[in-house]
Amino acid sequence: MFCKQCGKPIDDGKDLCDECSKTFSGSSNTTNVNSNSSVNTDPNAKSKIAAGLLGIFLGWLGVHNFYLGYTGKAIAQLLISVLSCFTLTFVSSIWGLIEGILILTGSINVDGNGNPLKD
Ligand SMILES: [Zn+2]
Repeated sequence: MFCKQCGKPIDDGKDLCDECSKTFSGSSNTTNVNSNSSVNTDPNAKSKIAAGLLGIFLGWLGVHNFYLGYTGKAIAQLLISVLSCFTLTFVSSIWGLIEGILILTGSINVDGNGNPLKD
């Protein structure tokens, strides 16, 4: 198999790329998760479902972007809503709605730190 991040070949059974040190969970579930340091599922991984739903319902507040660590975008969405005295809330709403859908469909699949989202 190959690293999804940088394309380098990786030994079967490993879930850590030597080249870019990117962990991922591409292989089938194995009981052998004690190898080295990394585990298949990052405990800090953000939930794709949660982020997507936050974007759809609370996107006008930038909540999904705060959740994912895209702080700049989050503040922008929040400020658009608040500074316009909520007259431009629809702009942030549509923006958040679109991002929520992109998250749920996997088009946005990493958080603000580049960590993959979990299902
Ligand atoms: Zn890599």
